[in-house]
Amino acid sequence: MFGQMQDVPLLVNRILDHALVNHGEREIVSRLVEGNIHRETYADAHLRARKLSQALQALGMGVGDVVATMAWNTHRHFEAWYGITGVGGIYHTLNPRLFPEQLSYIINHAEDKIILTDLTFVPVLEGIEKDIPNVKAIIIMTDAAHMPETSLKNVLCYEDLIDSNNGDFNWVEVDERAPSGMCYTSGTTGNPKGVCYTHRSNVLHTLTSLSNDVMGLSSMDSVMPVVPMFHANAWGLAFSAPAVGSKIVNPGPNMDGESIYQLLTEEEVTFSAAVPTVWLMLLQHMEANNLKLPKLNNVTIGGSAVPRMMLEKFERDYGVMVKHAWGMTELSPLGSIASFKSGMEHMSFDEQMDIKVKQGRPPYLVEMKITDDEGNELPRDGKAFGHLMVRGPFIVGEYVKGDGGQILDKDGFFDTGDVATLDPLGFMQITDRAKDVIKSGGEWISSIEIENIAVGFDKLQETAVIGVEHPKWDERPLLIVVKNPGVEVTKEEVLAYLDGKIAKWWMPDDVVFVDEIPHTATGKIQKLTLRQQFADYTLPTAEKAAE
Ligand code: AMP
Repeated sequence: MFGQMQDVPLLVNRILDHALVNHGEREIVSRLVEGNIHRETYADAHLRARKLSQALQALGMGVGDVVATMAWNTHRHFEAWYGITGVGGIYHTLNPRLFPEQLSYIINHAEDKIILTDLTFVPVLEGIEKDIPNVKAIIIMTDAAHMPETSLKNVLCYEDLIDSNNGDFNWVEVDERAPSGMCYTSGTTGNPKGVCYTHRSNVLHTLTSLSNDVMGLSSMDSVMPVVPMFHANAWGLAFSAPAVGSKIVNPGPNMDGESIYQLLTEEEVTFSAAVPTVWLMLLQHMEANNLKLPKLNNVTIGGSAVPRMMLEKFERDYGVMVKHAWGMTELSPLGSIASFKSGMEHMSFDEQMDIKVKQGRPPYLVEMKITDDEGNELPRDGKAFGHLMVRGPFIVGEYVKGDGGQILDKDGFFDTGDVATLDPLGFMQITDRAKDVIKSGGEWISSIEIENIAVGFDKLQETAVIGVEHPKWDERPLLIVVKNPGVEVTKEEVLAYLDGKIAKWWMPDDVVFVDEIPHTATGKIQKLTLRQQFADYTLPTAEKAAE
């Protein structure tokens, strides 16, 4: 027997319909690749997305077709997602920071038929065009006046396509379990793997992310998604902002401190989301110029661990509430967020920061557990580290085309590849990626925790910790640092800074200074490259142990 409620499918395009009817006047402001600031409303975006759907349909796109985007966050990229899903198609976000071979692999693997690109990435596509023979057309997201000279064949101009359609179009209805979007994981080892979101999973993720304990957006907010739409589904903001009618402020290609600061203040942004690197640039810019943030109330930071110093600066010096979030492409991407539970508001500042450095609690619709190597569940005592496993309706069940085989355990939990603790109040803390964990004398050392503490030393700009072979302990931590420009700092000073802040046996056996720490296409520290770089490194303690 079934109940008797309306069976309205959970489709992403209905989010934009809601925005049209209820928030049609609300603005989408974008800094464009062409240099200017562009303004339109949700009503404009709805019309232009429908016009794009007409254009895509005329190009033969329909239900199940994959249309890629390689673009910054702008109104056009926003319209593209809805225009593509509007014909029953699948938006596939390409991360332009990937190597050309990875890009052509992904384009072919996903079977992209059309690519929409910003002007910035035309040279990238020119370089790989011969390797992506199944792409039928490339739409350059600009107007006729800015169309570039290009060797690309079958090139179309986005604004011409919009202008040549009238928008008289009804979204194609698909099943709510039909695919709506696709995003490939950054693939630090092996080929990148595809995650294919359904309409239903994106809508459920939207509802979860909008709850007060998560991002809690409202129609009063002005939202700046600095997280790129080409990475991890832009943390769902292209759906959650229109679902409540928040203003959207798109930073386009400029993510330096000065440009971000300018938009934050001029557009009276109240909420923003980005990875720690972006916030570091903003904080440096504000400190150097003695600036404040009068309107910004709330930032969600994730993608890598948030250093305590960053939390403290935002909250104490700028009065901005930080929510530390953890997620992955495979989770649409939100998995947990560090928002307070009742009583925590009365804690001391330091105690509050102890909670906020953790990656937080799973919201409703995410179930979480930690397990040992045999799959046995470990206690939620805040001490035991284990494989972080998750289950829920917006979490991947299988990679595109079955890559990687069966990825769920017998109870349907996905192994995130992260290692974490869970405390009795439900707060999770990432200690490492499983493959980056340092094993010393049979015990695990958290590289992330040492990195976070070390980066609090004001003479250091960036830190990375890797395990290096040791004759006695198997592996010992090596701290690799980039110092702040123009300062002098010694190994002894760095170690003295750490002394007393971490367990004695976690103290790095050595500190090396480098000019740069390598990063992946999504801005994470490339530990694999560092491990290769330091594969033959002999720790001073190793020499002693060998004597
Ligand atoms: P991606 O799918 O590219 O977003 O990468 C997901 C991975 O980023 C996770 O599995 C974590 O290893 C890492 N990550 C994301 N958020 C955090 C965070 N707040 N703290 C530490 N690591 C994080």
